[in-house]
Parts: sequence; C-alpha cells; structure tokens
Amino acid sequence: VREIEADVCVIGAGAGGLSVAAGTAQLGRRTVLIERARMGGDCLYTGCVPSKSLLAAAKAAAGVQAAAAFGVHAKLERVDFAEVRAHLERVIRAIEPNDSEERFRGLGVTVLRATARFVDRATVETSDGARVRSRHFVIATGSRAALPPVAGLDQVPYLTNETLFDLTELPGHLAIIGGGPIGMEMAQAFRRLGAAVTVIERLHIMPKDDPELVDVVRRRLIAEGVVIREGADLRRVEPTAAGARLHLAGGETVDASHVLVAAGRRPNVEELGLDAAGVARDKAGITVDGYLRSSNRRIYAVGDVAGGPQFTHLAGQHASQVIRHLLFRPSARPLDLTALPWVTYTDPELAHVGLTEAAARERHGKVEVVRWPLKENDRAQAEGATEGLLKVVMTPGGRRVLGASLVGQHAGELIAPWILAVAGKIRLGTLLGVMAPYPTLAEVNKRAAGAVFSPRLFSAGTRRLVRFLAHFT
Ligand SMILES: Cc1cc2nc3c(=O)[nH]c(=O)nc-3n(C[C@H](O)[C@H](O)[C@H](O)COP(=O)(O)OP(=O)(O)OC[C@H]3O[C@@H](n4cnc5c(N)ncnc54)[C@H](O)[C@@H]3O)c2cc1C
Repeated sequence: VREIEADVCVIGAGAGGLSVAAGTAQLGRRTVLIERARMGGDCLYTGCVPSKSLLAAAKAAAGVQAAAAFGVHAKLERVDFAEVRAHLERVIRAIEPNDSEERFRGLGVTVLRATARFVDRATVETSDGARVRSRHFVIATGSRAALPPVAGLDQVPYLTNETLFDLTELPGHLAIIGGGPIGMEMAQAFRRLGAAVTVIERLHIMPKDDPELVDVVRRRLIAEGVVIREGADLRRVEPTAAGARLHLAGGETVDASHVLVAAGRRPNVEELGLDAAGVARDKAGITVDGYLRSSNRRIYAVGDVAGGPQFTHLAGQHASQVIRHLLFRPSARPLDLTALPWVTYTDPELAHVGLTEAAARERHGKVEVVRWPLKENDRAQAEGATEGLLKVVMTPGGRRVLGASLVGQHAGELIAPWILAVAGKIRLGTLLGVMAPYPTLAEVNKRAAGAVFSPRLFSAGTRRLVRFLAHFT
C-alpha cells in the first residue's frame, strides 16, 4: 500500500474539485487530487462544453434559413453530423489542457487516477492501492442523470448526457424525457440540425424560471418544430425495431428512434464509503452548512454533490469558499446565493439572477416590476432579434434590485450588470446615469432603469420645481 500524507485531499476532478486543488496547491498546502475517469468532469466532456458547442452548430444551421429575412437567400444543403461531432471534439481538445493531469502536477498537486473511498473519518483508499491520510477532504464527485421510474425504460437503449455526444448519426426522432434546461437546449439543437424532436415533460418546462419569459422560449421552439408535451404522464416505454415507443397516459404514443433521459440529476455518493467517514447525506446530496462543511468537520463537499443548484460557476464559487475557509478562516463568510445567476442557452437565451417575480412577492410582499421589450431596442431591430424582454424586480421605488430575468439574444451576456446590482454593488440610479454605447442590446438595461425613474422625473412635482428654478436663470 502506498501511504500518502496530505493537507487537503480532493475527490473528483471536475469543475469544483479542480478549482479547490489548484487553489490549495498554489497556496502551499500538500494537495492530493483523485479522479476515477477523465480530468475535467462532466462540464468539459459530457455537459456544458459539448452542449454549447452543439448549440453553436445548430445556430449556424438556423442562421442559413434565417438569412432570407435580410434578403440573403441561401439553402441549407446538408448537416454532416460527423463534422458536427468533430467540432465538439475540437472545442474539448482546445479547453482540455487547462484541466490536464500535467497542468495539475505542474501546480504541485499529487494526482491519483483511481476511485476513492473513505475507510474511516480521516482516510481514503483508492482502487489502485493508495491510502491517503489527510487533515481535510473535499468531496467533489458531481452528479449523474437520474432515471425516472418509468416502466420499461431499462429495456430500451436510452441516452443520457454521458452518451448523447458520442452519437455518430443524427437521430431520426429524438424523444427527450424532461423539459429542464438540458432537455430544452438539446431539443432545439437536435431539431435545428434536422432531427424530429419530442419533449415529454411531467409538469411544465423550465420550472425554475419566470413563466412569462419561459413562454418566449416555448413559443420559439414550437415554431421551429419541436413538439413539447407538457403535463404529460409517461407510463411506459417499450423497444421497437426502429427504437422505442413511449406510452403516455390516455393511450397516446410517441415513436422515437432515440430516447434522451434529462429528468434531473442524482448526486454521486454511493461508492464513497460516507458512513465510514461519518458524512451525512439526503436525497439531494451531502448535507453541508454555509461553509460547505459536512457532518464530519474535516470533510467538505462542493459542486453538484453538495445538494444545491447545479452549475459549473457555482461549483467554482463553492471552491473559493472552501479555500477561504480552509486557509483564511477568520475572513470566511457563509455562502450567499442571493446573486446566483443561471442561463439556459437556447436561442433566444434565458438568463436569470436573484429572485423571480413570484419568489420576490412571496418574500417581500410588495414589489415593483419593470419590463422592457427587446422590440423597443434599435440594435435588436437591426439584427432582426426583437423576440424577448427584460424584466426587473425591485423593492418599491426601485431602491434595491431583487432579481432580473432576460430572454433574448445574448441574454447570458446582458445579465452581467444585473448580477452586480443584485449583489448590492450598484444601484439603479447608477445604471441609469452611465452611457450605454448606441446601438447596443445593452441599452435595454439603462432603459429599464429609466422606466422606473421617469414617472417620478416627469411628475407634476418635478415640473413645479423646474418652473420655480426658472426664476433664477
Ligand atoms: C448536458 C449538460 C449541460 C450543462 N450545461 C451547463 C452550463 O451550460 N452551465 C453550467 O454552469 N452548468 C452546466 N451543467 C452543469 C455542470 O456540468 C455541473 O454543474 C458541473 O460539472 C459540476 O461540477 P462538479 O465538480 O460538481 O462535478 P463533475 O464535473 O461531474 O466532476 C465530478 C468528478 O468526480 C469524479 N468522481 C466521482 N466519484 C468519484 C470517486 N469515488 N473517486 C474518484 N473520482 C470520482 C467523476 O469521474 C468526475 O470527473 C450542465 C450539465 C449537463 C449534464
């Protein structure tokens, strides 16, 4: 047995684990990083990176057809799916070195390529025979696709995010179980590349987002030919010669060539020996406090396995939080998700930060809401991208921004000032006071701020004040 002593032992080299290891090693702590599969985790190989790359290919295809609106006539000849995959591969290869074993060894991290398992409260053993004793551990083992309890699902060769991006041919008809962000992104991507797509959703699509803005995405996907079955009760799946038949309650069926399961995620906790380590968990994942400490104070959990919202940027935030707590304890403050942003990368994109209108009303009672439609924006008109709106939720009088949602082209980029606003760093008046270059989509931010103040600015009271001041000029 190879005995290793460490200050910090990180299990899982995905978004969360890599960030912790890079930080603690560079700050001089003896760091061990254990990864059983590929360095980089879900995001790089089976999540964000291939999905966004596929969406980019799909956008290129859609752009050919959309060109006619500008008087530019072109015909989409064919989509070569093998070349689309090659594009995905190229993007992964370009990003991969950042997460590589070589880079982390260079930073001074001891990298073990094996499966880790706790044997007691302070020791991990690996499948290749190493025993790591460490002052602290960070569990960053991520999550995997959850399988909904649908009869017969295990009888068909269903896809998950782990296998979807390995497809060598475009599916004829892709049935997607689950209408969350992953389901909707993949629905649009595959539809635009030429597949028939049916989304089967038990409740309604994108349930965490503002329904008013979700509707813009829904309408666009339907217009592009995605079939969206909401409130659909999927009862049973059976294999057919061509793929699978999905039986909905009420006797309806959907015949698909491929089935993608995108119906939520499960934390990777089963193989970790958590009981031996005294680490408590529930269905969502490892139970953590505001400092991401588990029930065993030596052991932290970050990223998807920590049971909260599941985003790469949140895993990164978790990592900085843990580094601060481990190394600079007096200055650490509990994790604050008030300004957690997220984006669904459909076209139009839907970006959100802070509270939705419904959540804000529940928490604050009276709130003020301002909307700014993209069709009022000159650049959006020029680009033919007028679909969408910005919605800002504030405390009455616009003193504090509680949340903002934006659906439209580049919404994920345009949300940035609202993240600052919700985080408390800038006030609405500041947004209004700065110049936005004309004509940019970013003008919507200033205009929305203006819409809050203009009723007050042009009120009878202000007019009286202006009249009074005129005596002195
Ligand atoms: C299709 C899809 C698209 C997504 N798109 C986005 C997006 O656009 N933006 C966004 O912010 N998020 C997105 N996400 C979510 C994002 O991928 C995750 O939130 C992020 O990868 C979580 O990072 P993590 O470090 O917690 O886990 P992971 O990246 O999953 O890493 C966990 C690692 O731990 C390893 N591991 C597990 N158990 C063990 C063990 N016992 N021993 C050793 N190693 C182990 C695994 O092999 C894995 O490499 C997407 C997810 C999917 C599935």
